[in-house]
Amino acid sequence: MKAETDPFGLLCRLLAQGDGKIAAASIGGLRHPAVCALVSSGLLVQDGALPTTICDACDEAHPAEVTFDPSTRGHGWYCPEVGFVPAEPDKVAALATTLERAARCLRSAFGAAFGNGRWAVRHIEGVDAWVVGVWTISGAATTVVLGRSLENALNSAALRNALAELAPNEAGLVLTIGEDGGFEPPARFDKVPLADAATVGETGLILDGDLLSRIVAPHAVGRRVAHVGQPSVKVQVWAILVSSEPSRL
Ligand SMILES: [Zn+2]
Repeated sequence: MKAETDPFGLLCRLLAQGDGKIAAASIGGLRHPAVCALVSSGLLVQDGALPTTICDACDEAHPAEVTFDPSTRGHGWYCPEVGFVPAEPDKVAALATTLERAARCLRSAFGAAFGNGRWAVRHIEGVDAWVVGVWTISGAATTVVLGRSLENALNSAALRNALAELAPNEAGLVLTIGEDGGFEPPARFDKVPLADAATVGETGLILDGDLLSRIVAPHAVGRRVAHVGQPSVKVQVWAILVSSEPSRL
């Protein structure tokens, strides 16, 4: 992976790869500006050292297990030819980001854009997706979900089913990471690539609130129509009950 200069582009690429350790050296090192921006905003965290490395102290380029040296309080590896080799931090440093971490950062961003949210951040069982929370967007109570691995048709179908089983709100937004493979969200839900909905600011993710409001707005209109229609439905049901009652007696 070559160094990415845009922090948000880097984040989306790392998240699309799944959760797990990332070699700092593979994304430009710990001092790369994009890496620093993600670390300082809490989207990427330092995660100790890589388990293995390739020795560059001899001519063999052999794989070696990275170990911690208490005497130098640094990492390194054992080379059969030159002995213990202290590692430059960038060579063995590991970073990590997870979908959960991204969901928690998104929750802060939605809070900043749309006020206090309801529901807790939680993993949706059986799928690679997290509930971020529920916010009132364009007047509609909107469930926000962060989803990944949707290029796989089975995952995509599983998320659709899982979303349909959530307690219903008036609208829903699925922020997708990576290719969505034609993912079709269930009724009332819309999908939007995370890459279109947010950017990385100095303190974390910043949402495009206008874009999200425009996406949700049609559901808020639908809600008003449904509300106006509700009394007549009640009257009809009542009328059916009344008319059917005498025949039961
Ligand atoms: Zn060696």
